[in-house]
Amino acid sequence: MKFLNKVGEYTKEAVQAAKYIGQGMSVTFDHMRRRPITVQYPYEKLIPSERFRGRIHFEFDKCISCEVCVRVCPINLPVVDWKFNSEIKKKELKSYSIDFGVCIFCGNCVEYCPTNALSMTEEYDLSTFDRHELNFDSVALGRMPTKVTDDPLVTPIRELAYLPKGVIEGHEVPHTAKRAGLRPEEIAEAASEQK
Ligand code: SF4
Ligand code: SF4
Repeated sequence: MKFLNKVGEYTKEAVQAAKYIGQGMSVTFDHMRRRPITVQYPYEKLIPSERFRGRIHFEFDKCISCEVCVRVCPINLPVVDWKFNSEIKKKELKSYSIDFGVCIFCGNCVEYCPTNALSMTEEYDLSTFDRHELNFDSVALGRMPTKVTDDPLVTPIRELAYLPKGVIEGHEVPHTAKRAGLRPEEIAEAASEQK
């Protein structure tokens, strides 16, 4: 009797083990049908999403030296150097800088700037051998980066989130193809039509 119980238990465990092996193999076989989604950076680059918070762009002529960006920054980072011009009774901006070696790209300064002098770009490759080179002055901040889709040296690839429904591999989808879901302007258009 004891022997028969042991055989029964052994059979049950063997069936359970076969079930688990089957589950594991089904996952393996499922992935064998997919192509790798490796991006060959820097020859290929993913197109950043619309609200991507990359390196900040600064427009000198728009800045009124109010220092709101400094006050809303969690680390008081932007350096706004200005002098008061008593003739026109206004502040005059002398220099402006942000150190991207310290910035956490939270976007507060961009959000609260009253004149929209600041904006986020899609630039993310800021690597350098010396972190002090990341302290951008107003000239460096005023430079617009080359868009991934405009760079002739780069093959732009759509992010996973922007691929058409059911597609998981961006290499064969042209970057001009319609993305999954509605674009903000399409949502605004639909809302204005409903009014
Ligand atoms: S908040 Fe805008 S306008 Fe004010 S100092 Fe900063 S960048 Fe200039
Ligand atoms: S993005 Fe955030 S951390 Fe960077 S300068 Fe602006 S407010 Fe400061």
